[in-house]
Amino acid sequence: MPMDYTWPKEFDELAREASEWVAEATSDLFNTDDGWLVGYSDEFTLRLAEKGWIGMTWPVDKGGDGRPEVERFVVTEQLLLGRAPMAGSFFPDRQIGPVLLAYGTDEQQERFLPAMRQGKSKWCIGMSEPDAGSNVAGISTRAVKDGTNWIVNGQKIWTSGAQTADWCYLICRTDLDAAPHKGMSEFIVDMKSTGIEIKPIKDASGDSHFNEVFFNDVLVPGENLVGELNNSFGQTMRQLEHERGGIDRLASNQRLYLDTKESTDASNPLIRQEMAQIETGYQIGRDMVLRNVLRQTPFPQYSAVTKTWCTEFEQRVANFIGLVTGANAMLSNRVSRNLTYSPAYTIMGGTTQILRNIIGERILGLPREPRPQS
Ligand SMILES: Cc1cc2nc3c(=O)[nH]c(=O)nc-3n(C[C@H](O)[C@H](O)[C@H](O)COP(=O)(O)OP(=O)(O)OC[C@H]3O[C@@H](n4cnc5c(N)ncnc54)[C@H](O)[C@@H]3O)c2cc1C
Repeated sequence: MPMDYTWPKEFDELAREASEWVAEATSDLFNTDDGWLVGYSDEFTLRLAEKGWIGMTWPVDKGGDGRPEVERFVVTEQLLLGRAPMAGSFFPDRQIGPVLLAYGTDEQQERFLPAMRQGKSKWCIGMSEPDAGSNVAGISTRAVKDGTNWIVNGQKIWTSGAQTADWCYLICRTDLDAAPHKGMSEFIVDMKSTGIEIKPIKDASGDSHFNEVFFNDVLVPGENLVGELNNSFGQTMRQLEHERGGIDRLASNQRLYLDTKESTDASNPLIRQEMAQIETGYQIGRDMVLRNVLRQTPFPQYSAVTKTWCTEFEQRVANFIGLVTGANAMLSNRVSRNLTYSPAYTIMGGTTQILRNIIGERILGLPREPRPQS
């Protein structure tokens, strides 16, 4: 039986509404491909909040609209296709809000969720360090108890949006004697705190959305600890599930493909063949994401499969666009930016090599390479 890709009528209507809304809401703003990470506009964040599309799935008694996850999927896909500059709201909407709903205290939820919903609080994620990117358990930024507070010292790197964030969701070592996967805790850190220094890093496309962030005796109130003390590794892994399995990992440059397609000479059968691969590929990736959204994944860690497949697809899209644009890519900032940016797809949020290890070891049950004896 052929696959039926027809949406129920109400989702079609929601998609149309979102598509028309984003065109209108960004008509006077800068918008960009990869807008969920590099497109920043306070004005757009407020417009999105006013529309009710930040935290739309959060429970009603927690200030959300309790809408189904699939509606967030429908809206987010259209925001991505509309190149909406939504970096100011995407981290709270995609993962920090859900993490606080899962692990935060009632007080933390009451304190932080409403401002996220209103588009008035921006967040960054302090996970990676210079010597601990793939190996999150290797972090050395530490938080030491001082009365009821914590004092944080260390360095994070590649911290997207740190320069505009109000808050950092920070992962720290809190027990220096524990095994690497133990002894870590998560904190909410006020980015205006004394002792925080932010240094932007320029990426290959010339943009500097990510940063080095230095913490020098930064005081964090005790009530900003999220979840379990010395046992946050599982929380962090759960957060990465939110980070890896969504439509943002598939559709970052899809509008660029659709726009490029209009001027592509499809009389060449090899070009046509590649376009067919991309268009079926988008449907396959979309189905994988939808399984996450609909909680129909066949095994835990499914987001490792989704992100591996979808981000390699995004790179294929970038390569195709480069191929058909040819030397003119150098004249089109949009194309050259995407080409130089696209290696990031398979690095950020966990590299493809690490995700393939997860697929091999945890999903397929393949033997692990013996670790060297020390
Ligand atoms: C655009 C962008 C935005 C980002 N935003 C954020 C952010 O907001 N917050 C944040 O905390 N981090 C962020 N990151 C960092 C990102 O999570 C890390 O870059 C990523 O996890 C890889 O870590 P690393 O760069 O230290 O590379 P390494 O861990 O040093 O890896 C280097 C290479 O070795 C390979 N490798 C490492 N270990 C293994 C292994 N065991 N088996 C096989 N291969 C291995 C890797 O796959 C990679 O190819 C961002 C990165 C990018 C590119």
